[in-house]
Parts: sequence; structure tokens; C-alpha cells
Amino acid sequence: MSRIDTRGESAAEVLISRLLARVGNLGGGLHEPLFAGNEREYVTECIETGYVSSVGSFVTRFEKELALYVGAQHAVAVVNGTSALHLALVAVGVKPGDEVIVPALSFVATASAVALAGATPHFVDVSSETWGIDSTELRAYVSSSLRRDDTRLINKESGRPVTAIVPMHTLGHPCDGEGIKAVAKEFGLAFVEDAAESLGSFAGGRHTGLAGNAGVFSFNGNKTITTGGGGAIVTNDAELAARLRHLSTTAKIPHRFEFDHDAVGYNYRMPNINAALGVAQLEQLPDLVERQRSLHRKYEEALGDITLGSLRSESPGTTSNYWLQAFLLASGLAPQRDDILKACLDAGIPVRPLWRPLNTLTPYLQSPSAPTPVAEDLYSRVVCLPSSASLVP
Ligand SMILES: *Cc1c(COP(=O)(O)O)cnc(C)c1O
Repeated sequence: MSRIDTRGESAAEVLISRLLARVGNLGGGLHEPLFAGNEREYVTECIETGYVSSVGSFVTRFEKELALYVGAQHAVAVVNGTSALHLALVAVGVKPGDEVIVPALSFVATASAVALAGATPHFVDVSSETWGIDSTELRAYVSSSLRRDDTRLINKESGRPVTAIVPMHTLGHPCDGEGIKAVAKEFGLAFVEDAAESLGSFAGGRHTGLAGNAGVFSFNGNKTITTGGGGAIVTNDAELAARLRHLSTTAKIPHRFEFDHDAVGYNYRMPNINAALGVAQLEQLPDLVERQRSLHRKYEEALGDITLGSLRSESPGTTSNYWLQAFLLASGLAPQRDDILKACLDAGIPVRPLWRPLNTLTPYLQSPSAPTPVAEDLYSRVVCLPSSASLVP
């Protein structure tokens, strides 16, 4: 490993000693859940009343309280974030054979949801400032690579219709939702926001997930709040909310005894026992976000002044939930990223890289893609740091 620090220490040694000395005990996982409230009481209530499955008051309560926190008119709770994205895409009208614009830098679910809907992801690059889709570059790309056909946008190369866009708020940091909304409107694209990582993050005072037709959250065990497994779709469109609810519950027509279904539906509704956990977690959401923000200040103290790279801090005009804390290695250190990751893991510090750009994954090698130099650069340099809420007392 090359010696780059003036005192003869390697980059990994400097990072590790700073982290251990100034952030403290970093053991455990990358992002572990914290159950410090009414979780046990509410889950026990489900077991004692027998309402553990697809009916129950905690689901309704969870949806109401989530909608209230986010500032949405409707929330529909489902089994996980991936199913939430899939369902949202189908409900906004994405059809088999369509293309959907997604960032090359995201967790794989953003692209899988498109494929599950029978469509093809069409990858675009992210911005080096927000780490999400940039609306100015998006407008330029759409204008040059796609053409309008009567009412639709067509990919000039594949000939397929491009019908929707799914930006993602990377690691909890809001990207330019309002700007993307304007582009989506201009070109007639449906707009689903992958806000899986950004519960508790705001841009211009508005919660993420509300700029598009629908916004999606995940409550997986490693997210800001967890329901075990879970997801939700928020929207201000009452008709869309009704369609989401209907499709998520097998598209069954309500009837006292008859089983009649008017579409191919999904079994995606969140079970009551998961929602019980969710109601308890939502009660602690402001505290959980505050913990992440103060964890960020701790990392600032530990790493703020070193020349090996920079901590990811919130972009101007946004308030981030700091779902995952991240350190961007200086350009020259990209070749050492894997050695740094291994050394940290060996020292008991649970770090991770960012996701491999989605346009390099086997299932998407044939998918259309813009050049994605920023996604590739970020992937080569970002080290995600331990981000459990319990790291803050
Ligand atoms: C976590 C996550 C999802 C999917 O969530 P699951 O609940 O794990 O299915 C989707 N998109 C992004 C960006 C995520 O981080």
C-alpha cells in the first residue's frame, strides 16, 4: 500500500486511527435498527388479538401517521420497498416494452422494479454534487437522445417508448426533485421518486417523495426506520392511491362473500404485525434522524480536516437524514479503495462501498445507457461508514 501521509502512515491507517479514537466503538453492522420505544407493546398486542396478518388497525394507523409526517395526502403500506416501486410503476401506467429512466448509481431495486414491470431500465448519470439525477443534464440528454412521437417519447436507438423516470435520493441526500418534475412534465413522463433512503430528508422545506406522481419508501432492517420488511407509497393523487390499494390486495372487488377480481393484482399489502413495529418506529423518527445528524457531526470532528478525502455533507437548501454516512476518497486514492475497505473490516469497522453502477450488472448489460462517468467515479471512491443510530448515546 502506498504511503501518502506525511507521518508515514497509509491512508487506511490514518482513517482507522481517526475513527477509533474519535468516533468510538464502531462494531456491529453498517446500519442496525434501534428499538427503544413501544415496539414490544404493539407487536404483543397483535399477537394477543390475533391480528397479525393482512387486516388490522396498525396498518391504517401506520399509513395515517406516515402520511402526516411526510405531508402527503395518502400512504399505502406494502411488503417492501422493491414491491412499492414495482406497484407504483404499474399504477402510473408503465407497460411491458416501455423504457424507464433510472440513475446508474442506485441500489439494484430501482432497476429490478422496472424489469418486474416488464419494462427496460434506461440508465443516466448522476450529479457529482447531489449524487442523484441532475435536471439540467437530464433535459439535455432527453432532448438529444429521445424523440417525440405524437404523444410519446421514443428512444431513437431502440425505438421503444420511454414512459417514466425514477430518480433516487442517494444515501438520504435529496436530489433535484422539483427540477426533475419540470422535465417530466415537459416531456410527458410519469414520475416515481425512489425515496427509499430518504425518510426524514427535506428539500426546500418539502419532504422527499412528494415531487412526483408517487414516492416510495423502504422500511427494511437497515433503513432509517424499520418494520422488519416493509415499504410504502405516498401520493397526493386520490385516484392513484385507490388504484395502488386495490392492486396491492389482489385486485379483489369488495364483497361480503364473493371472490371476484377485476385485474391481475399483487399480494403486496403490509401485514399488521409489521405495521405495529412501524407505528412504534415512526414515534421515534424525529429522534432517529437527530441521532444520524449528530453522528455526522461526530464524523466531521474525526475526519473533517484530513486530506485523504471529504465527508458527504448535505447539499445547500436540503436537510438530510444522513441515512448512510459516507467518505469520498481523494481522486488519487481510488486504486486503494479495496485495500482501505479490507483494512477497516479487519479492524472491526463495518464499512461498505457504494453499489456497483447498475449498467454494469449482468441483467442490465443490454439495457440502454447514457455515459455514466460520475456514477463510476463515485463508485470507485466512496466508503460508506458505520451508521447505526445506536452509535450516538
Ligand atoms: C432499500 C432500497 C430499496 C428497496 O427496499 P427493500 O425494502 O429492501 O425492497 C429501493 N431503492 C433503494 C435506493 C433502496 O436503498
